[in-house]
Amino acid sequence: MSNLSPLPEAEATLARHAARLEARLEDADPLAIIAAAREAFGDRVATVSSFGAESVVLLHMVSQVDRTMPVLFLDTGHLFPETLAYRDQLIDRLGLTQVLTFHPDEAARMARDGDNDLWASNTDACCALRKVEPLEKALAPFDAWLNGRKRYQAVTRLRIPVVEADGRHIKFNPLAALGPAEIAGWIHAHDLPEHPMKRFGFASIGCMPCTSRVAPGEDARAGRWRGAAKTECGIHLRRTA
Ligand code: SF4
Repeated sequence: MSNLSPLPEAEATLARHAARLEARLEDADPLAIIAAAREAFGDRVATVSSFGAESVVLLHMVSQVDRTMPVLFLDTGHLFPETLAYRDQLIDRLGLTQVLTFHPDEAARMARDGDNDLWASNTDACCALRKVEPLEKALAPFDAWLNGRKRYQAVTRLRIPVVEADGRHIKFNPLAALGPAEIAGWIHAHDLPEHPMKRFGFASIGCMPCTSRVAPGEDARAGRWRGAAKTECGIHLRRTA
């Protein structure tokens, strides 16, 4: 006998919707997945981007499908200045017309991280304040979102599908099946600018206090929260509806 509880109806409906889309798109190429997301959800789908090490690939593809699609960017307050400059560079280069920047709620930040050093004692609480909660607000007007995760990035991402249910949203992972050579090839083929920190050995780029260089042979995300068990900030951990 199963010990699994039945899903609430809304959650079950969303899961069925995601499963239908996954069956249709699991072998589709990324541009087709992005186009299908736009067709299915219209103005109710947004792309979420960190403007990090490989973000340019998804952003370039989105710009080819529809450069007016909203792109949501979380400025945690701890980002590298190079990331903010790179965001502005890519807006110009790709012609993105709706890049929306979100910040942590200032009253919450003052109450919970007034000295801006919460990351040193509790990274989960810091990510909740500076990433997870702002993303919840940013996604509130939307029914679906796209992001740039790839299976090869880390063992924790090996099984991500192309489409999944995520809280009350549908989440598309158009690049899930791409490998590092395809990512590098796309950047080269389209002569896209790379994040300036990549040349210094940063393979995955998040907040300054929690990002370090990676050595050859390491997972791309090995430099994030180095030395801690933490591997994800929380925005990709399954949310409840
Ligand atoms: S990555 Fe580090 S600095 Fe950024 S929100 Fe998370 S704990 Fe805070």
